[in-house]
Amino acid sequence: MEVYLNNNATTKVDPEVLQAMLPYLREYYGNPSNLHSFGREAREAIEQAREEVANFINAKPEEIYFTSGGTESNNWAIKGIFRSLISKGNHIIVSSIEHKSVLSPVQYLEKMRYVEATYLSVDQYGLVDPDELEHQINENTILVSVMHSNNEIGTIQPIKELCEIAHKHGVYFHTDAVASTGKVPLDVIALGVDLMTISGHKFHGPKGIGVLYIKEGTTIEKIIYGGEQERNMRAGTENVPGIVGLGKATIIAQQEFDNDTPHKIANLRDYLEQRIKELIPEIKINGHPTKRICSTSNIAFANINNKELIDALDKAGIKLSSGAACETTKSLTSHVLKAMNVESKYLNSQIRFGLSKYTTKAEIDYTIDTIVKLVKT
Ligand code: PMP
Repeated sequence: MEVYLNNNATTKVDPEVLQAMLPYLREYYGNPSNLHSFGREAREAIEQAREEVANFINAKPEEIYFTSGGTESNNWAIKGIFRSLISKGNHIIVSSIEHKSVLSPVQYLEKMRYVEATYLSVDQYGLVDPDELEHQINENTILVSVMHSNNEIGTIQPIKELCEIAHKHGVYFHTDAVASTGKVPLDVIALGVDLMTISGHKFHGPKGIGVLYIKEGTTIEKIIYGGEQERNMRAGTENVPGIVGLGKATIIAQQEFDNDTPHKIANLRDYLEQRIKELIPEIKINGHPTKRICSTSNIAFANINNKELIDALDKAGIKLSSGAACETTKSLTSHVLKAMNVESKYLNSQIRFGLSKYTTKAEIDYTIDTIVKLVKT
């Protein structure tokens, strides 16, 4: 049996997304900046997708900017706000468990001595403390960036509350919502955020396409220079099939919310955790018990080497990983689990189960049986 449980790393493109994209690879391959009918078809498709994405997150179409993915959107939020507010201040606050695409640009700006950064701690469940944020903001703070949910453990942050604190001090708030998209509704007005990142390939859309939501009136510089695409804010010929696919993915994700799909995924995830807990005594479930996205379960098996376990599972047809791709390839201990002060016997022994709407009970049963056999031997 082949079982794909690496949906936090990337997801299968929904067949309907693929169908929506194909005409923009086969027939309407025109450059959207051209005035002939091929170009116009492409331009209209982009603007339709922009509306679809805007509806999905309760934004205005003119607040949606298409990028090459979550990494670029996060880089843009950090570097773009830094550049536009350089005369106002040089202090950025992020959580210590952000994805590398937030941490790395911040560390680069720090290394260049352009900014000072504060890394908010998290508790044992991976939650940021709003009081700590309040305490860390100073007159030089220009941006707070805290992810909506974490890609390794699934913990959902109190974004609305954190955002209100930032705004009370006149500071912009960005959230990386890549791990949450399609799992929990994202309403930019209800959350109050100024900037929000989305990536297509994490919710059954294509790779290499993302969005940065920029609230109207936010002062941000562009970081990619060239042509005048995306209202002169993000140069480069638009990835038309990708944009169309991302738009379609938001429509499907909305239908899945209406069908209660995230709840069904959560039930299957809870069943997996429950059975593993019953069958293997020494485990630790990392992440918040309730404030967690439906699809993610991070389970550590005491004193087990996760690399060996992942290899053995792969041989049995089960595809999963221990955490973020950038860390797993380099055999580093997860910065997220370290920040949560996870006991050493549970470090480097965790496996991340990432379910999706395609995951079946039979697949979960097979996974449970295989893991129990492997851990016991
Ligand atoms: N943020 C988070 C939380 C992610 O999980 C990822 C993907 N690993 C990214 C950002 C980067 O997105 P992309 O792969 O589209 O560059």
